[in-house]
Amino acid sequence: MGARTGRQYLDRLQQHGPQVWFGREKVTDTASHPATRAAAFEIARLYDASLEEANREIALFSSPLTGDEVSSQFLVPRSVEDLVKRRKLHKLWADATFGLMGRTTDFIGAMLTAWSISADYFGPRARNVQSYFEHVRENDLFLTHALIDPPVDRSKSASGQPDPYTYLGVVRESSEGIVVRGAKMFATAAPYADEILVWPFAMREPTSADEPYAIAFAVPTDTPGLHFVGRESYAEGNLFDHPLASRFDEMDAVAVFDDVFVPSERVFINQDNTLVRNIWKVNSNAFTGHQTSVRLLSKLQFVAGVLKRATAAVKTDDFPHVRDAIGELTTYIELVRAAIIASEATAAPNDEGIWIPNVTPLLAIRNSGNRWYPRAREILQQVLAGGLLYQPASIDILDSPISADLERYFRGPEISGEERVKLFRVACDLAIHGFGSRHELYERLYAGDPTFLRIMTQYVQYDWSEPLALADALLGSYSASDVLGSGHAAFERASSGSVRLAGGGADVR
Ligand SMILES: Cc1cc2nc3c(=O)[nH]c(=O)nc-3n(C[C@H](O)[C@H](O)[C@H](O)COP(=O)(O)OP(=O)(O)OC[C@H]3O[C@@H](n4cnc5c(N)ncnc54)[C@H](O)[C@@H]3O)c2cc1C
Repeated sequence: MGARTGRQYLDRLQQHGPQVWFGREKVTDTASHPATRAAAFEIARLYDASLEEANREIALFSSPLTGDEVSSQFLVPRSVEDLVKRRKLHKLWADATFGLMGRTTDFIGAMLTAWSISADYFGPRARNVQSYFEHVRENDLFLTHALIDPPVDRSKSASGQPDPYTYLGVVRESSEGIVVRGAKMFATAAPYADEILVWPFAMREPTSADEPYAIAFAVPTDTPGLHFVGRESYAEGNLFDHPLASRFDEMDAVAVFDDVFVPSERVFINQDNTLVRNIWKVNSNAFTGHQTSVRLLSKLQFVAGVLKRATAAVKTDDFPHVRDAIGELTTYIELVRAAIIASEATAAPNDEGIWIPNVTPLLAIRNSGNRWYPRAREILQQVLAGGLLYQPASIDILDSPISADLERYFRGPEISGEERVKLFRVACDLAIHGFGSRHELYERLYAGDPTFLRIMTQYVQYDWSEPLALADALLGSYSASDVLGSGHAAFERASSGSVRLAGGGADVR
């Protein structure tokens, strides 16, 4: 089949839509329901964008299996140029959604590309991983994923929960496959997804009793027994009053599996704590980090652009602290951009000649973005201040007897009342609306607990060779006996060693 059009994506969603519950309401046609349809249309727009003549060069490549054109999110990079092509596809989609849809399917496309490159990791199920990757690529499927277990009792592991199937685990198995029961905390974008990919991630060390929960698999979202519990939708209001919330609210949903059958060819890990615990070793962070950094770049650029326009509209843009705050945002933008380029420029091929982005700068961004985005939102509030609430309740004020107020009181010196309200409505969705709060929470947490993530990646797994070489070089250059009674001679001895690059490398990695 190859790359899909937006219409093909929506048609499949309507025919095979997931079962999503909003309160007492069961929804199966998420492409039509008011809580979900706008985001589904935004996703359809991304599929169409990939097929536009001007974008085909970056968005598509020829399938090694069929020769059909398929999405670049599945391109296995054989050169730095291929990595750049992947990055451009991520940026095309992120810019089209202003960085506001974190779980566009190129996130999982990146994950599956990494899995397929390291399929051997999955041992006897390597072929399952590889053929699933091909299935998703050839059918251009949209995937959601769910890792985290429900926050019922965080003091205990999977087997210690009040009900043995609170966390998703295996109920029974046969040569045909496994039957699973239990829930997963969040599957963002599930209402728009064709399939769900599941694997567990827990901070708690598992025991042998937790083995039935150590599973990874994928199923279509309309599989019998699977339903999703949606949160409150922010897709309210009209386009003018809520220009972002009404279009880009990618729904978060709890995934509930009531004895769902998973055929054996879709099982990637079956009850194996060790495989689950070490899954980060398959380079998935290098590929997903590439996508998430590019998306963060678009989002920070968008926020900075909105701030620049909004401050200019009301002439606060000459105040030094306003410039300083917006300047803080542009430093984040440039650091993200530099990290993306560094990850490509210092990428290295594996034994099969496949180029893996350098994960180190990407992890630094992942461990910073979760703090920078809350700061970006704080800057929006500090700089735009009460102006964020200086809005009529709705633009339908233009239909009222007090419509003249809009032009008299809500204007800027060089901008009409309607234009100013339009601009500040965008800022309002980002800064103070529930949609904006959810985005702050998303950036804080989407990659896992920020404290433990930083401890693991920036401390425990960090390559300390250069920092320690520098510290040790100084400490090794003198001793107490050098100083005792020798005066200046000690300085001469300390400075006499040969000078070399720390860690012995001329590489900036
Ligand atoms: C908007 C949004 C969208 C998301 N989308 C997805 C998605 O699509 N797919 C997905 O898989 N996940 C998703 N997540 C889940 C996200 O990965 C988790 O929120 C994140 O991993 C943190 O887990 P938690 O929220 O359960 O916090 P908890 O683990 O409950 O942590 C709460 C507090 O307890 C502390 N704590 C917890 N356990 C321990 C421990 N063992 N030792 C010490 N301290 C501990 C934490 O540090 C934290 O301060 C999403 C989250 C959000 C907010």
